[in-house]
Amino acid sequence: MRCPHCGAKVDKRSTICIECGRRIDNKHAENIKKRPMFFTRLISFILPVFGFILYIIFRESDNEKAKVCFRWSIYGVITLLVVGVLFFFFWIYILINVIT
Ligand SMILES: [Zn+2]
Repeated sequence: MRCPHCGAKVDKRSTICIECGRRIDNKHAENIKKRPMFFTRLISFILPVFGFILYIIFRESDNEKAKVCFRWSIYGVITLLVVGVLFFFFWIYILINVIT
């Protein structure tokens, strides 16, 4: 996040800006932390490609959100691979049983 006083980039968990030394209202940071980001996770999980795009978009502004997008995209890819492999073997199994 950015300092509302001087615009310097500060860690969203910090309460004081390292550039100007003024206090930062951390209500916003708390909200980000508590927000479940259900839809972000769901989209990243179902559409990993979209999740990776979101990761690139959020990487600069919201690191926490970017990480969530990235993590759930990985979960999505793994799930797709597992389902794909199972599906592949299922059809191999069906083909073998039909032919023989
Ligand atoms: Zn500042």
